[in-house]
Amino acid sequence: MLFKNCTVNGKLTDIAVKNGVITDGEYDGGIIDCGGLTASYGFLDMHCHLRDPGYTHKEDIVTGLAAAAKGGFTAVMPMPNTSPVTDNEKTLKYVLEKAEGLGVKVLPVAAATVGQKGSELTDCAALIKAGAAAFSDDGYPVVNDGIAREAIVNADKEGSFFISHCETPSLNINGKVTPESEEAMIARDCETSLKTGARLHIAHVSTEKGVQIIREAKKKGAHVTAETCPHYFCFNEDAVNGNTNFKMNPPLRSEKDREAIIEGLKDGTLDVISTDHAPHAKEEKAREFAAAPNGILGFETAFSAGYTYLVKEGRLTLSELIYKMAVRPYEIVGARGGRLEAGYPADIVLLDLDKEFIYTEDEIRSRSKNSPFVEKKLLGRVVLTAVNGKIIYSEIN
Ligand SMILES: [Zn+2]
Repeated sequence: MLFKNCTVNGKLTDIAVKNGVITDGEYDGGIIDCGGLTASYGFLDMHCHLRDPGYTHKEDIVTGLAAAAKGGFTAVMPMPNTSPVTDNEKTLKYVLEKAEGLGVKVLPVAAATVGQKGSELTDCAALIKAGAAAFSDDGYPVVNDGIAREAIVNADKEGSFFISHCETPSLNINGKVTPESEEAMIARDCETSLKTGARLHIAHVSTEKGVQIIREAKKKGAHVTAETCPHYFCFNEDAVNGNTNFKMNPPLRSEKDREAIIEGLKDGTLDVISTDHAPHAKEEKAREFAAAPNGILGFETAFSAGYTYLVKEGRLTLSELIYKMAVRPYEIVGARGGRLEAGYPADIVLLDLDKEFIYTEDEIRSRSKNSPFVEKKLLGRVVLTAVNGKIIYSEIN
């Protein structure tokens, strides 16, 4: 396949693909005229929930990956809070086998502790052998300091890394994760990383002080990386207004926090934009606010949200946005990808930066509809996604 006339780093170019790999010019298959559309390496989402096995009334691997493809994600890292929990090789294999042939590459995150109960570590080495890309009890914090330290050190020792869902239950108020609740655990785990030299990745950072703690830890030389999600730079707590499609954990914060998140993205403290795509069924989100589950959709709107709220607002450049969605995640995970260069897998997205659209419930590919972006006007849209040179999503002819 030859992707003719695409824009990469502001320059018009062609991307040639042979046998699913980017080449210096040789290609097989057809020619697709991209008409000047911007091309990027496919996005890698380091944080999502596919709900399969166990919660397939919310999402399953098929619908989840269809939504991911539409959002330009060519690889995703599903979290292990399924039923059964992905704390064993059998469940890991189920996820990988079900994803096979669906296009989007799946790099599963295995549970750090058995049953995500925070007391007994899982078998890191065996799970890595079975395909685990990282370890996390996401959805739940590892509360016990000693176990958390062991989980961080163990994953690192096996050449992998721990992803920390930061929440200190004793500092929550009525189940709500306060800024202090999040920041206390960010500080604890950064300190562990600093003291032990072990790698650590902080999930869904949402507060100003959280960013500050990570910035300081990095300055001191800690091997810490961090992510935030589109909702934390698009919205603040004023957007919630009792609408359960704005309810997630950690929750939306103050405008000052939102500003600090954008600053953290700009100066590199926050390495990655992940989605925390977390589908919930209509009837679940229809409960009264306090009883409704945490989590919102993210795959299909992540790029457009970043382009609309960061690039169009002059806060990040397009290449900075692409770096945080398609380049840096590959560096952190250590998977081959992130570069539109000969020899790399042809995981490619085409972006229509002039496309303005209202996101509607009708176009949602996920099984659930719990997106805060429904009826929002967005600029910049993923119009084609290819994995290993094979088109898995297209809005162009
Ligand atoms: Zn989480």
